[in-house]
Amino acid sequence: MALRALHIIERGEKMSKAIFPGSFDPVTIGHIDVLQRAAKLFDEVIVVILHNGDKQSLFRVEDRLTFLRHATKNIANVRCAYEDGLTVAFAKKEHASAIIRGVRSIKDYEYEMDIATANRHIDDSIETVFFFADPRYSFLSSSLIREWLRCGLDVSDYVTHEVAIALQNT
Ligand code: ADP
Repeated sequence: MALRALHIIERGEKMSKAIFPGSFDPVTIGHIDVLQRAAKLFDEVIVVILHNGDKQSLFRVEDRLTFLRHATKNIANVRCAYEDGLTVAFAKKEHASAIIRGVRSIKDYEYEMDIATANRHIDDSIETVFFFADPRYSFLSSSLIREWLRCGLDVSDYVTHEVAIALQNT
């Protein structure tokens, strides 16, 4: 895959369709950075909120989707969606060839490797493509944002404009 990606980049071509799944509770500028970089590489990227029943969420799915739509409105080849099934099943349904994930640390790497391997067992025609976090955002996570909010800290530098506005109004 890496070699194929390299050849495609050298030829200035893009690689079909990818999905970028996550909780996005809430979307951060770290997520957007990955999305912008992925949108340069793929013809189309679908950023998809994957419902995770185990996780207690801060924002409702509808709000998270609205935030994502606002944040991506100027990236022509990005679409936003919601899914409550399996990531791989969603990728298949959308005829996507890749799953995008971000890696911030060794901890992420180990976690992401397990998920990518499991997904590969389900369907090995779909590749997981990793983007290393921009060092400016490698400390940043939605859970950190939620933690800071609980402590009354200002998070507006780290979330998208609409999330910051929504938080001001709560
Ligand atoms: P999940 O619950 O599936 O981990 P998240 O919304 O927390 O959903 O993250 C979605 C993806 O974005 C994950 O692959 C995560 O590693 C990546 N990610 C989150 N924050 C950042 C960041 N600051 N920089 C790069 N990637 C990130």
